Amino acid sequence: MSQAVLVINSGSSSVKFALIDPQKNLTHLSGMAESLGLSNPKLKWTYAGEKHQRILAEYAGHQQALTCLVTEILNHPDYPLPSIGCIGHRVVHGGEKFQSSVLINQAVIDQIRECVPLAPLHNPAHLLGIEAAIKAFPALPNVAVFDTAFHQTLPEEAYLYALPYALYQEQGVRRYGMHGTSHRFIASATARWLNQPIEQTNLISCHLGNGASLCAIRNGQSVDTSMGMTPLEGLVMGTRSGDIDPALVFYLHDQLGYNWDELNQLLTQKSGLLGLTESTSDFRPIEADRHKNPAFERAFQVCVHRLAKYIAGYASLMDGRLDAICFTGGIGENAAALRLAVCQRLSLLQIFPDPDRNLELVGGVSGSFSTSHSRTQLLVLPTDEEGMIAADAAALALTN
Ligand code: ADP
Repeated sequence: MSQAVLVINSGSSSVKFALIDPQKNLTHLSGMAESLGLSNPKLKWTYAGEKHQRILAEYAGHQQALTCLVTEILNHPDYPLPSIGCIGHRVVHGGEKFQSSVLINQAVIDQIRECVPLAPLHNPAHLLGIEAAIKAFPALPNVAVFDTAFHQTLPEEAYLYALPYALYQEQGVRRYGMHGTSHRFIASATARWLNQPIEQTNLISCHLGNGASLCAIRNGQSVDTSMGMTPLEGLVMGTRSGDIDPALVFYLHDQLGYNWDELNQLLTQKSGLLGLTESTSDFRPIEADRHKNPAFERAFQVCVHRLAKYIAGYASLMDGRLDAICFTGGIGENAAALRLAVCQRLSLLQIFPDPDRNLELVGGVSGSFSTSHSRTQLLVLPTDEEGMIAADAAALALTN
């Protein structure tokens, strides 16, 4: 049996994991440790389609969760699992230091730590996961796969804010973009779908989940993306506002008395779909009940408006040829009404959706829903960030 890759996505109070055979693109086992550091942490996993759960000791942290993963799950006598050859870690922010995935050593750990100010919620949690993995699997190589790496090809005009240039030069204040692993996967999957070399493929990748971002990809490279220095910029998201007038922050502070914590909470946790509907960040009821519920309809329309505006803008970066627009993520893969409403606004670009075909592409089904007259293929392809992390880790750390 070939060696497998353990993929780890470590958050502040959770660790998601998957054991993947990168050659066969097969997930042997997946799961997550949740509520770490709290009074009721648990380890949940799925093996051979069956769900299992183990309660962890009170206040158990990342290290205890990984130790339990090794002793109770990976060495479970009933699980004939392949041996693990290496570990792939998702890391949200690599700043300008990482253009691609890398083998982790002390220098890399130090550089990920230097990027903490850019991702204060994510990078410290990734470091906890990396350090716990090194202790739990001392003999295995670890690989870091960065969400920002794919966007390191952004040209200066796309990554610079129109702020004093010294803020960029001296402090690294610029647009970095996120979801790069997903956009990179979608770029390859789209090129495969179109049966053309990725180096000659122009597309707009629409990753629409709780977090959402678009990526303009020209000749296989990211040339613009909607998230910025942080994941707050851009589209309407589950609870994040996306683009706003930055002076609104002064207004809310000076005139309405919000303090910094409240502003942060407002823009990251109380806005987006949740803010507009005043009841939910879940796109399912919004799509299903919008004709009965005006609050759902307004949230839907704000999403559609912003998406169409971004896509039309990104079309201007394609040197006259946009091969495909590809939808992915929980909303992109399922919300057929949203896809149709967005694409129906793009007829000026000779983009034409087929409404019936669009309706068939839900629940993880891949396919195209453009008509034969459309200049651009409209695709739905499920993303696979874990598979991409496993493939990168295997390429860097496995010899077979
Ligand atoms: P995350 O960013 O957390 O990975 P996901 O990619 O899982 O998010 O997407 C979550 C979003 O997808 C939620 O808003 C959810 O309502 C939406 N979603 C999931 N299934 C459907 C569906 N069948 N129809 C519409 N929206 C859906």
